[in-house]
Amino acid sequence: MPNDAVHVASARFTARLVATVVAPLDSASADAPQVLHRPGSRLLTQRGDTELVVRDLDGEGRDVCFPAPWPRGYGSVTVSPAGDVAVFAGVHALRAVEPTGSVRWEIRHGCWSAAVCTEAHLSFSEYVDDYSHGHADSGSAAFSSNGELLWAHVRTIAGEQTEEEWLVVDPVDGTVLARTGTMTVGSGSLHFSSPDPAYMGLTVLAGEENSPVLWGCWDGEKLTVRRLDEEVLLDVSPSGEYFVTTDPGQWSLYLHRAEDGTELRRLDAEDAEDAVPRSAGDVGDRVCWDYEAAFPYDDTAVVGTEYSAEDPRHWLVDTRTMAVRGRIGYPFPVSGSPRPAGAGAWYTLSEDRTAIHLWNLPAKERGALHANTRRGSADTRTQAADTVLAAVRPGTGSSGASGRRAWWR
Ligand SMILES: [Zn+2]
Repeated sequence: MPNDAVHVASARFTARLVATVVAPLDSASADAPQVLHRPGSRLLTQRGDTELVVRDLDGEGRDVCFPAPWPRGYGSVTVSPAGDVAVFAGVHALRAVEPTGSVRWEIRHGCWSAAVCTEAHLSFSEYVDDYSHGHADSGSAAFSSNGELLWAHVRTIAGEQTEEEWLVVDPVDGTVLARTGTMTVGSGSLHFSSPDPAYMGLTVLAGEENSPVLWGCWDGEKLTVRRLDEEVLLDVSPSGEYFVTTDPGQWSLYLHRAEDGTELRRLDAEDAEDAVPRSAGDVGDRVCWDYEAAFPYDDTAVVGTEYSAEDPRHWLVDTRTMAVRGRIGYPFPVSGSPRPAGAGAWYTLSEDRTAIHLWNLPAKERGALHANTRRGSADTRTQAADTVLAAVRPGTGSSGASGRRAWWR
């Protein structure tokens, strides 16, 4: 653990509020709003009982509604970066729906029912009243950063049993380009797209058991997957060169190189105790990293502790050394964990779940962060990390967002 973490324990960085966006749907009949980001695209999405509403946060703020094929609570949903097609990942099928409600394509798959079910369902109506299907596990789906691929985690019927697979799909017509078994027993999953459209991350939630991260690459002909056992994916850096994970026990943060999934550095919560002291909000007798975090700058991650506390603490982690640089201050109290919002920003969900707040780190604060780094540069690990970061392609840190740079600064 770099010693400089001790010296910056009192450092405090003030986040700047970029925007507050009120959710379009009534929270009584809708899920909390989310931010879905790709280079050059930030969308607010909210799933209601009968629809998915999508708002382009960088555009005119017009809402686009996609009629939902089944109620919320059955699976998950994603939308293309262009906002022109939504893919509902349901209990028995992936269904691509256009704003008109017309179905572009459907891929039926094995049933995610909580009880064993090997039925090849043809429609939602077959299990609408069944308890186990109403409490089904779920997969997920996500578009690559350029929108040209859809990745989906599904169940597949295999004889008397079901297995789980990761599909690479052509979103134009639903052609399955590649598939691989995930060797998982998931209760849910989340995708994390990389700015590099060839890569995709999948974190499979499997309770206390082995929850792996799958890091996939599709080169147009071959699908390769790196498996990271007992890790939970948090976010991918703006250049796409790195991603950060924690583990199911929330003990450590791990920085990985995206090219091959290799772990470069880690930060153990117990080694960060000087910078991240225990608080009344801690569960048990130690600090736990939250299951959600943001990686808004290639050299800086925003991570949380005590997400469920009245006063959750958010921290800046310098990913060149994996040292905590200090706590983030906000102009008003925030709730929950920091969440990914793409290059140069992160977001928090309001406590009543009716709005999101977008945040960034002003240039002045970024300068303070770098000044601290220079003071710690006698640390050999810092120098090694700087060498690694020098390999980051120039200009890619703001890939796709350059046209909106002024808005985010
Ligand atoms: Zn079923």
